[in-house]
Amino acid sequence: MATTVDVPPYEVREEVRVDPGKTALIVVDMQNDFVKSGGTLVVPDAENTIPVIQRLLRLARESGMRVVYSQDTHNDDDPEWKIWPEHTREGSWGWQIVEELAPRPGEVVLRKVRYDAFYGTHLDHFLRLWGVETLIICGTVASICVHYTAASAALRWYNVIIPRDATSALNQFDLESSLRQTAFLFAGTITESGGLQVEARLEALPQVAS
Ligand code: ZN
Repeated sequence: MATTVDVPPYEVREEVRVDPGKTALIVVDMQNDFVKSGGTLVVPDAENTIPVIQRLLRLARESGMRVVYSQDTHNDDDPEWKIWPEHTREGSWGWQIVEELAPRPGEVVLRKVRYDAFYGTHLDHFLRLWGVETLIICGTVASICVHYTAASAALRWYNVIIPRDATSALNQFDLESSLRQTAFLFAGTITESGGLQVEARLEALPQVAS
């Protein structure tokens, strides 16, 4: 059955300004199994988002924003493997984060067992410790782990920003329905990665000569 539906309009903001001291970049599940040829659950377009996410990482690191990675992690008898093909087995090549986006020392990598990066992890603990109020969420899969992490963040009253060119989905319907839900239901902000602007910190402003 092929049914054509119209996506209700949602706003894509041209420019979004964030305070780097209160913002974290969350890189969701950019692991070989989802991204690289030879992976067990490859998401079309995920590999194309690598350069975009590299630019987001550069923006975050240069501005002193916190960076957190989620790492989908499964083992034998995991019930998720009844829903999906076996993927991201702990310790395997497919489980590793793609080398182009390798975490740096000091950046938090959270192993997660379900779609939601808050579920069973210390993500909320770290964000509150750091005084983070806004999350820029990128990675894959847009309608699954990115989506449920965005939902979970919004339920905890974090501001959610999705740069849509830094996410990837299994198909266009899933991508659009996820972005529409984030914009409408979670009151999140959809933008393009190029529209993200970092506010200058007060201490970084030039001294005014007297
Ligand atoms: Zn999984």
